[in-house]
Amino acid sequence: MGFKTGEYDFDIKYKRGENNTNVDAFSRLPIESGEILTVLIGEDPIKVFNIHAYQRQDPELEGIFEQLDDDIGAPHLPFTIRDDILYYHKYDGQLLVVIPRPLIVKILSLYHAHEMSVHMSRDRLYALLKKRFYWKGMFGDVDEWIKACPKCNGVKTNQTNKYGLLQPIIVTKPFEIVAADIMGPLTTSPEGYKYLLNCIDLYTSWPESQLLRTLTALELTSAIQKIIICRHACPQEFLTDRDTNFNSKTFDAVCKQFNIKHTMSSAYHHQTVGKVERFHKFMENSLSTIVKKNQTDWPKLVDSCLFVYRTTFSRAINEIPYFLLYGRDPILPQDSSLPSFQQFRRQIATSDLDIYKTRLLGVLKGAYTALDKHKQKYQDSYAVYYNKNRKQIEYTKGEKVRVHFPIAENDDLRYKLGVRWRGPYTIVDKIDNVTYRVKKEEYNRIVTMPVHVHRLKKCLEK
Ligand SMILES: [Zn+2]
Repeated sequence: MGFKTGEYDFDIKYKRGENNTNVDAFSRLPIESGEILTVLIGEDPIKVFNIHAYQRQDPELEGIFEQLDDDIGAPHLPFTIRDDILYYHKYDGQLLVVIPRPLIVKILSLYHAHEMSVHMSRDRLYALLKKRFYWKGMFGDVDEWIKACPKCNGVKTNQTNKYGLLQPIIVTKPFEIVAADIMGPLTTSPEGYKYLLNCIDLYTSWPESQLLRTLTALELTSAIQKIIICRHACPQEFLTDRDTNFNSKTFDAVCKQFNIKHTMSSAYHHQTVGKVERFHKFMENSLSTIVKKNQTDWPKLVDSCLFVYRTTFSRAINEIPYFLLYGRDPILPQDSSLPSFQQFRRQIATSDLDIYKTRLLGVLKGAYTALDKHKQKYQDSYAVYYNKNRKQIEYTKGEKVRVHFPIAENDDLRYKLGVRWRGPYTIVDKIDNVTYRVKKEEYNRIVTMPVHVHRLKKCLEK
């Protein structure tokens, strides 16, 4: 496939192991001014991107090269040349590839629209790029790129809840408490998948998801066994939100089998609804950005979404979940195609296993200390922000309310973002600060249930 950019003719092959027929990735990339961008894995990056030549052609870099090429060199500049490639030398020793202007779009596309990048958000993309590359005005370019991305545009939403003050919870180590929730029903895939079980470790924010056909205890049990127990061993506690679509009795039975305490409470609103909901939102946004028109291919994309969530920066933890579990930086498929990929990783450089072990423990200890500090700070500021935007709303006994259902009771209805208010329900009593019991007459019988206040609103009609 050939295309022309500036003065350079590119001849790029798309290769992915033996599978050369997948040209699908192309159709997902935003294409500007008739130019076709490429995804490259396993190709020689210097040749493909021609970074060296572009750097030398860039008028903005001319002055830097002149000084560096001088006999005396330019020790006062934060730049260095290795194997003909110009790097920005960060104060911490990291080498960032200097990206000349004409290549910026290619880098943005490679890391944002790559099929494994699932159109990650601005903050994730920026955090990822600034660890690998250098160019002036990177944040602005990333911001503009995301705003202009046709796939991201219009799909992503950021709906937040309005009610229920923050109730904090203490977590002290990885996979101590796992929060879980169900997403769906989604459009049934050809394989019969309809739901997604989403789990997230409250300490590291490491996510796990499993495709489900039904919400039976049997299927949930094997899902939890597979994605949590077999991979991360038994957590002490499983949290589900009291008032989501989770069938709590089913989940109770599942937890009993593994001797895990099942906590089901809206009192943990921040971490359950908060953390899991943010992960939910990420999955929804990512999946809706990359699914095909008929929307039945979403199961194939779940793993890529998980990969991005695990390997990119998360503001809530001020870290990459992968780093918190493994003590080293992840290498993305795109990275291997860059000359600097050896340099940007935080990794322990030793072949001595004992030294490695000691250092790894040191790295993790440092990371956890930083995380605990950040969490406290984040929690405090989040609590202020969260509570500022919410009211502690009170309902009185007998008051008529509407209840929001994030899930369709009727399976034929497709899961969509948006509002689904049902009712009127009547307030029976107050369970705790953020939970009320409501009742409704249904088919000549009275149904009652506990509901978190963020799902309640006053019923205006009589
Ligand atoms: Zn996008």
